[in-house]
Amino acid sequence: MRKPIIAGNWKMNNTIAETKQLIADLKPLVKDAKCDVVICTPYTDLATAVAETKGSNIKVGAENVHWAEKGAFTGEISAKMLVELGVEYVIIGHSERRQYFGETDQTVNARVKAALAAGLKVILCIGETLEEREGGKVEEVLVRQTTEAFKDIDKSELENIVIAYEPVWAIGTGKTATSQDANDTIKIVRDTMAKLYCPKCAEEKVRIQYGGSMNPKNASELMAMEQIDGGLIGGASLKAEDFSKVVNY
Ligand code: PEP
Repeated sequence: MRKPIIAGNWKMNNTIAETKQLIADLKPLVKDAKCDVVICTPYTDLATAVAETKGSNIKVGAENVHWAEKGAFTGEISAKMLVELGVEYVIIGHSERRQYFGETDQTVNARVKAALAAGLKVILCIGETLEEREGGKVEEVLVRQTTEAFKDIDKSELENIVIAYEPVWAIGTGKTATSQDANDTIKIVRDTMAKLYCPKCAEEKVRIQYGGSMNPKNASELMAMEQIDGGLIGGASLKAEDFSKVVNY
């Protein structure tokens, strides 16, 4: 019912030459994937990634986007600029942006609206920190992040937003949430979407990925869980073989 989606988040990795090589290696390995396959690259690699993936089943995404259409925002990139390049997806609200670059629930919401208005599909990241988890605040944090991110977003856009539940303590640490825990936590997010929109929409239209040290070894177990519709993959997306094994879970 919900088509799985596996997306790579390259973060600040790969030059143009490395991008060409990685995509050339990846294409034959993922060509028969049953899920949607996306690679999200640094801005400088996007044009190359779009050109090199042309005619393949790999879609290209950016890792951030500004909320304004244009203007005095030195160093920023607009949604229109991404669309012109042929980019289809954009990650918004990644925990590294929330942690290091002052991203808030409000700026996340503004970016989501701008991305959708320009025709981009969004990978919206939410997730609790270790402190929040240990303080028993998982549900409170996820409900707040989800509710704020979807503020003023119409039901008709739900198919254009993929939610990535990424517990911050599991990102780049080698620590994965157990598949049961990831599943149960994602259920909280789906229930929140059911309340914000409708149970049927949450069940049929909202795809929710797990992210956090997902790799070839744990992908099949995570993907077998009822609530998990895909993965957002950091470290393991930088090697064609590893990423393809996750894609072909
Ligand atoms: C991420 O950056 O979104 C991520 C999940 O990273 P990693 O897979 O390296 O934990």
